[in-house]
Amino acid sequence: MSLDKSGELWRGRDFEDLAAAVRDFRAGGYRVDTVIESRCAGCDGRAFRVDVDEQDNTRRVCLACGASRFIGDSAEHWDEDAQDNCECPCGGDRFAVAVGFACHDDGDVRWISVGLRCLADGTLGVYADWKIDYGPSRHLLTRV
Ligand SMILES: [Zn+2]
Ligand SMILES: [Zn+2]
Repeated sequence: MSLDKSGELWRGRDFEDLAAAVRDFRAGGYRVDTVIESRCAGCDGRAFRVDVDEQDNTRRVCLACGASRFIGDSAEHWDEDAQDNCECPCGGDRFAVAVGFACHDDGDVRWISVGLRCLADGTLGVYADWKIDYGPSRHLLTRV
């Protein structure tokens, strides 16, 4: 872990650093219980382009094999005409992805946040977050 909080933007080198940034962000104001790194199911790749629509629905596209996957329940409300790919302040658009889950006491998901670590300069940020207001929703932890 080599989290650099000295500047305006946090920077980091690995998943632990990104997870720390996601926890600190506390999307929705809730404690983040679990942070899971995205890995491509097809090739085990961990570098992605990330698309977000106006409602914060999120899709990641593996840079190695091109496979795309929606995060959480994003596929259900995806708006292809209102999506854009995430870009770091440095202009980079290749990221490692970590998905944070805040959960209710019964384990159902309350809030999802998507943290990205720029692979060019290590800048960390939460680029999307949204509320989950239904249950059961524990299965969303498998969609990262
Ligand atoms: Zn892949
Ligand atoms: Zn960057």
